Amino acid sequence: MTEQTAVTEQPVSKVILPDAQTVTSVKHWNDRLFSFRVTRPASLRFRSGEFVMIGLLGDPHPETGKQKPLLRAYSIASPAWDEELEFYSIKVQDGPLTSKLQHIQPGDQIILRPKPVGTLVHDALLPGKRLWLFATGTGIAPFASLIREPQTYEDYDQIILTHTTREVSELQYGKELVESVRTDELLSELMGEGFADKLVYYPTTTREESPKMGRITDLLKDGTVFKDLGIEGLSPETDRGMVCGSLPFNKDIMEILEGAGLREGANSEPAEFVVEKAFVG
Ligand SMILES: Cc1cc2nc3c(=O)[nH]c(=O)nc-3n(C[C@H](O)[C@H](O)[C@H](O)COP(=O)(O)OP(=O)(O)OC[C@H]3O[C@@H](n4cnc5c(N)ncnc54)[C@H](O)[C@@H]3O)c2cc1C
Repeated sequence: MTEQTAVTEQPVSKVILPDAQTVTSVKHWNDRLFSFRVTRPASLRFRSGEFVMIGLLGDPHPETGKQKPLLRAYSIASPAWDEELEFYSIKVQDGPLTSKLQHIQPGDQIILRPKPVGTLVHDALLPGKRLWLFATGTGIAPFASLIREPQTYEDYDQIILTHTTREVSELQYGKELVESVRTDELLSELMGEGFADKLVYYPTTTREESPKMGRITDLLKDGTVFKDLGIEGLSPETDRGMVCGSLPFNKDIMEILEGAGLREGANSEPAEFVVEKAFVG
C-alpha cells in the first residue's frame, strides 16, 4: 500500500542555518501525501496540536545567487513528549515548497522556526466529557499529535476522530496512526490498559467507495454519525470540538456546532470548540 522514499529528482539544498533540522525518515502514502520525521531542537517546547513554520531554501536569486528561506505553516503531528518531530504533508506539484519538500531524504536538512502557536490545544477548551476531532485531508495532522497525548485521555471519557478524504488511500496515515495508538505500550502503561477504548475512529470517503461514504457534515446533519456511535447528539454540557480542514469545511462544521449551542474558544478565552485552517486557499 505504501511506497518508500521516491527517487530524488531535484537536489534538496543542504541548509546551513541556525534553524536547520535533520530528516530522520520519510514515508510516501500515495502520490499526493507523505509524512516525515526530523530531529527536534533541544529548546523546542510546544503543546500537542500546535503548528510551526518549516521549509527549505528557495531557488537562488537570478542576479545575486542568494537563497531566501521558503517557509510554510505545518502542524506538528507528533505529541509534545516525542523526542523527534513528525509532519504529514500534501504534495502540491507546482507548490513553491512542497514541489521540493516531497523529495527530501533521510539526512537532508529542513528549516524549522521554533515558535509553536495554534488554537487546537487543550487549554482553549473548557472541561468536557467527549472530544470530537473533525478533520479533512491533512487536517488530521494536529490530531495525530493530540491522540498520542496522555492529557487527551485524562481529560475526556471519549475521543471521536472523524477523518474525511476523497479516496481510501488518503485515509491510510490516520488508520495506521490509530492502530499504533491502540497498541502503544507507553500510553497503555501511563493511562491503563482500557485507555484505547476511549478512542473512536470514524473515517469516511466522498469519492472512492469505502465502508462509510459521505461528508461528515452531511452525516452529522442527518444523524447518521450519532446513530452509528450510539450518541444522542451534541450538547454544550458534554461535547467539545476541534476542527481542522478547508475553509468551507470549517465553516460548515462551525455552523453545526454553533447550532447545537457550542461556542468558539481561543487560548485567551476557552469555550466549547476551536478551529484552525488546514491550509490557506
Ligand atoms: C495553520 C496551518 C497549518 C498547516 N499545516 C499543514 C500540515 O500539517 N500539512 C500540510 O501538508 N499542509 C499544512 N498547511 C499548508 C501549508 O502551509 C502549505 O500551504 C503547503 O505545504 C503547500 O505549500 P506550497 O508552497 O507547496 O504551496 P502553496 O502555495 O502554499 O499552496 C498551493 C495550493 O495548494 C493548496 N494546499 C496547500 N496546502 C494544502 C493541504 N495541506 N491540503 C490541500 N490543499 C492544500 C492551497 O490551497 C493552494 O491552492 C498548513 C497551513 C496552515 C495555515
